[in-house]
Amino acid sequence: MMLRKRILVTGGAGFLGSHLCERLLREGADVLCVDNFFTGTKDNVAHLLDSPNFELMRHDVTFPLYIEVDEIYNLACPASPIHYQHDPVQTTKTSVHGAINMLGLAKRLKAKVFQASTSEVYGDPEVHPQPESYRGSVNPIGPRACYDEGKRCAETLFFDYHRQHNLRIRVARIFNTYGPRMHPNDGRVVSNFVVQALRGEPITIFGEGRQTRAFCYVDDLIEGFIRLMAAPDELTGPVNLGNPGEFTIRQLAEMVIEQTGSKSKLVFHPLPADDPQQRRPDITLAQQKLGWQPTVPLKEGLTKTIAYFDGLLARLPNHVFQ
Ligand code: NAD
Ligand code: UDP
Ligand code: UDP
Repeated sequence: MMLRKRILVTGGAGFLGSHLCERLLREGADVLCVDNFFTGTKDNVAHLLDSPNFELMRHDVTFPLYIEVDEIYNLACPASPIHYQHDPVQTTKTSVHGAINMLGLAKRLKAKVFQASTSEVYGDPEVHPQPESYRGSVNPIGPRACYDEGKRCAETLFFDYHRQHNLRIRVARIFNTYGPRMHPNDGRVVSNFVVQALRGEPITIFGEGRQTRAFCYVDDLIEGFIRLMAAPDELTGPVNLGNPGEFTIRQLAEMVIEQTGSKSKLVFHPLPADDPQQRRPDITLAQQKLGWQPTVPLKEGLTKTIAYFDGLLARLPNHVFQ
């Protein structure tokens, strides 16, 4: 009898986690999804519940977890500024205590463990585009620090467990990713603009909209996760995963308006504190070591994302998303 690989995905009921669970099931794994449903929902994985190879468990990763698995993907952490700033102390705890618990679990089981790190470790970068060797420019006491510094400390823990306990680790630095199952009201720019355009509400641009981001479609990102996990153990990372196509926020707003055919107008709000002015991944390492690069251009990814939100809003026209 062939033994199926048993894989833990923390934060598996979130946006990226639900796509990862789906992909791992398709590849023939047994998937244990662990989530405290802070920003994720059962709805995101409802279509997987019928699978005999899928299990869903409510659990907060800041508490120890004693289970048996072969591999761990640690994604648990609120990812949008509104959500991670809602309870900043809990955000840092989730990154730091969550990492310690998942690393302790991996150590006991001798399991390979993957960390969803972030481009936010580069802060408001003075080097552009950002290679993995850039050490970043993070304000340690600003409103984004709970997320940025929590993720930086998690990386430190991953590398110390690797050096001290020979743990097999993989660290991905994820750049802005979008797609179906983003939370409609978590304040991230793609979901905000698409929902606003579909509802005919004003499109809220922070600052003058000249700041840039590079947007990766979710399927491309998940392919990068799978390749990094499967790579030789020497490739611990950190590895940047993102789409190098860079756009100003104003350009994004215009694309969304055009693709939805919306009559929404642009409105300008103050730029939040410590908002990075520019961001674009240097993905040379992923290209060379994983043979990976994104394949879905922004226009095509937006079409799929717009279709998802269109369906969601049609199903729940008057719903206030929390
Ligand atoms: P998300 O908010 O949709 O998913 C995070 C999931 O973690 C949610 O299901 C949430 O309920 C769960 N969670 C939060 N705290 C938890 C805790 N203490 N215990 C258990 N579960 C907990 O966000 P996402 O976009 O899917 O992000 C997933 C991961 O990828 C996060 O670690 C995030 O930092 C990282 N990341 C995402 C992006 C992006 O653009 N989407 C970019 C960089 C990094
Ligand atoms: N841990 C866990 N599951 C396990 C093993 C450990 O959640 O199967 C947690 C436990 O709470 C511990 C942490 O991981 O505090 C770190 O474990 P480690 O063995 O590195 O350190 P120690 O147990 O000595 O604190
Ligand atoms: N942004 C915006 N309008 C919005 C939401 C976000 O102009 O309604 C801007 C935000 O100020 C930032 C960029 O879009 O410059 C990306 O924001 P997001 O929160 O999606 O990601 P992050 O800042 O974490 O990269």
